[in-house]
Amino acid sequence: MKDYDVDALREQYPILSRKVNGRPLVYLDNAATSQTPRVVVDAVEDGYYDRRANVHRGVHTLSQEATAAMEATRRRIKDFINADSTDEIIFTRGTTEAINLVASSYGQLLSEGDEVILTVMEHHSNIVPWQLLQRRSGIVIKVVPIHADGTLDMDAFRNLFTDRTRLVSVCHVSNVLGTINPIADIIAYAHSKGAVVCIDGAQASPHVHIDVKETGADFYAFSSHKMYGPTGIGVLYGRSELLQAMPPYQGGGEMIGHVSFKGTTWADLPYKFEAGTPDFIGAAAFRTAIDYIDSIGMDAIAAHEHELLEHATDAMLGIPGLRIYGTAPDKSAVISFLIGDAHHYDTGVLLDQLGIAVRTGHHCAQPLMEFFGIEGTVRASFALYNTHAEVDAFVAALRRVAAMLA
Ligand SMILES: *Cc1c(COP(=O)(O)O)cnc(C)c1O
Repeated sequence: MKDYDVDALREQYPILSRKVNGRPLVYLDNAATSQTPRVVVDAVEDGYYDRRANVHRGVHTLSQEATAAMEATRRRIKDFINADSTDEIIFTRGTTEAINLVASSYGQLLSEGDEVILTVMEHHSNIVPWQLLQRRSGIVIKVVPIHADGTLDMDAFRNLFTDRTRLVSVCHVSNVLGTINPIADIIAYAHSKGAVVCIDGAQASPHVHIDVKETGADFYAFSSHKMYGPTGIGVLYGRSELLQAMPPYQGGGEMIGHVSFKGTTWADLPYKFEAGTPDFIGAAAFRTAIDYIDSIGMDAIAAHEHELLEHATDAMLGIPGLRIYGTAPDKSAVISFLIGDAHHYDTGVLLDQLGIAVRTGHHCAQPLMEFFGIEGTVRASFALYNTHAEVDAFVAALRRVAAMLA
């Protein structure tokens, strides 16, 4: 594993040297969206300036180049997550749309009384699509609780299974707690009970290795914009055998074999699930973001972020009244916290005055907030370009804010 030079790498991100409220920006809202390096913005620009043409249908050169660029990303993603085939890689708008695709389409193969297991730490994106399915089909949703440190209660998980359990949908990494869930164990157990598993990988893909073959994931969803790529593009991986059996999600151009008012046939995978003109420029540039991550190395990124996590955690625990939510031993670089009785919003506003960008609120995880009996938290989340000095600036600002709000 090679170390990397964070200061040199930050020059790729003009936004990181801007000021906010007269202070140097310290961007710690990476779990909501990451920043984009020049190489990726350049790839988007190239797409617009050089080969903008609609994909798939064209005989002309530009269309072929645009198609080739998008399909190159599909191959890149296949390798990035170790899938078997590009048939299994479906472009979506992001994680949310990917999970909606599974709930809407695979959901049609479920019947009233079939059970879907979620966990209390899920993002609303991995709750509401299943509730919509519940209204349509009468499925039953069961919820795995967590321990106080933010790890899943695996005994409770195993006890939720019945002969009606058909699907488990769980995040790989929690966007609030940072908990890295033991997805290989979860998948192995679910498979032993005949259930398929959908993984919400939105918080995992920028920080940990994904291997759909090794873990056995049936579905795996993630978003480009959290991994230094363009916004508006994401991926659903699905095991081809499952995707074959599933009905289309949306109808329109690109997804058909032949259309007739007597009856329409579907395109082959993966196009069956890609109705309409995709974000082909974003999709093409997403490859550059994945190449960028690989050029630094996921292990090096994880090690750097882990160092920031430990440094920040140690320093924050020295602030009187500060409580951290999510202290799992296996944790990615996300810190949710509250200080004394201070409202999360006030803490966030005051930090912003000092140039520090954090997120406040329920983080699209209201059931998790309910579990802790709180309305929201302040969340600092780190990326490959954050520095030790930024952690120090953040903690110093937090001390000032804590004193102001005490
Ligand atoms: C961000 C996030 C989502 C939603 O991703 P979008 O890119 O907004 O579709 C889902 N789950 C988790 C855990 C997330 O962090």
